[in-house]
Amino acid sequence: MPATQRIFIKNPLCIFAPESAEPVTGLVISGGVIESLLYNNEQPQTACDEVFDASGLVILPGLINTHHHFYQTLTRAWAPVVNQPLFPWLQTLYPVWARLTPEALHLASQVAMAELLLSGCTTAADHHYLFPEGLNDAIDIQVDVVRQLGMRAMLTRGSMSLGEADGGLPPQHTVQTGEAILKDSERLIQQYHERGPNAQIQIALAPCSPFSVTREIMQQSAELAEAQDVRLHTHLAETLDEEAFCLKMFGMRTVDYLESVGWLSDRTWLAHGIHFNDDEIRRLGAAGTGICHCPVSNMRLASGICPTLDLIEAGAPIGLGVDGSASNDASNLMYEARQALYLQRLKYGAQAITPEKVLSWATVGSATVLGRDDIGQIAEGKAADLACFRLDELRFSGSHDPIAALLLCGAERAEHVMVNGEWRVTDGQINGLDLPDLTSRHKAAASALITG
Ligand SMILES: [Zn+2]
Repeated sequence: MPATQRIFIKNPLCIFAPESAEPVTGLVISGGVIESLLYNNEQPQTACDEVFDASGLVILPGLINTHHHFYQTLTRAWAPVVNQPLFPWLQTLYPVWARLTPEALHLASQVAMAELLLSGCTTAADHHYLFPEGLNDAIDIQVDVVRQLGMRAMLTRGSMSLGEADGGLPPQHTVQTGEAILKDSERLIQQYHERGPNAQIQIALAPCSPFSVTREIMQQSAELAEAQDVRLHTHLAETLDEEAFCLKMFGMRTVDYLESVGWLSDRTWLAHGIHFNDDEIRRLGAAGTGICHCPVSNMRLASGICPTLDLIEAGAPIGLGVDGSASNDASNLMYEARQALYLQRLKYGAQAITPEKVLSWATVGSATVLGRDDIGQIAEGKAADLACFRLDELRFSGSHDPIAALLLCGAERAEHVMVNGEWRVTDGQINGLDLPDLTSRHKAAASALITG
């Protein structure tokens, strides 16, 4: 559909637009944006080229994933690490991941993004920090996949520069020099980073974690991000092992380290953000640093529980992320939202954590974490990114509140998904993607990676 066409989306079961004062009963989409919201079953004021009958559909803003490692779909449920916590999990996987090839990354990125898209996700962030010999163009490969699937993406140029020889966690042959990292970061920003509303592809800089990069690359990445006006991303305060590492290596706790390298700002978003004390939460909130909550990964690796409501109260935006597929192992954002609801209830109680609150983290909260105000909401002038769910599967039978039913009954597959005014998923199928062919090639690549 050319983005200039005007579409009338009529008669939905429900539209999730909590900012709207009254229930929204229809939408007009034009030029890739939401042109108008309709109420009380009114008709569009302008002629439409297409009428989409949304009877029986619950419509959400397209979901936004703020942390992933697409390549890890090749090492899901791998027996040697199924029962490991973070550090031994990483140390067992690093040598396997170091064998990643361009073809395998292409397939892995297609699988991860396809899975996200089918769960209703329209914007995905990926944190890619592996650049072994022959894979210098990893982010370029991911750009190709984003364009093929027609999603939006925040692709982060990750990095590792602190190998075992210098006291880091990753093997020496998986790390790069600071010079190589910064040169490629600059190239990628120039080549792909789109600015302004409705951007499809954006680039951020993402040194991997305190235990895999040098202090210098953290500082230099912050300077480059400031100069180029792009965002900064890293893993932080995921486990107590990491906290102990920072105390030993840098003589300070994680947030002090973050501040010492110029990262405590609203340009930064952090994956996990679990082990903070009260003063650190206050400082993160005052700085407006975003936090990506990854409940399934945190439960699988037994890392801990992100203090979401305390962070929000302090001023830090919260988004959701599925994290990499070696620690989740699903790339399903609806499933993730359901897990966030239940995990956060254990910390804050049932009344404080509502389905609406968690869906707002997966949409407008995640958008804020990525520094965007043009996506994540169904409102006039926002991007036309929509996820539509049916409630006629067995699991929903007998449910009453449609928004609550999505999470409580466990919706996990969208029926239709629109990105930038174009339908990318129709009747539960991704348009233009041969999934059986993709999965057979992806499975072969996953086996080859493990056997080396
Ligand atoms: Zn991660």
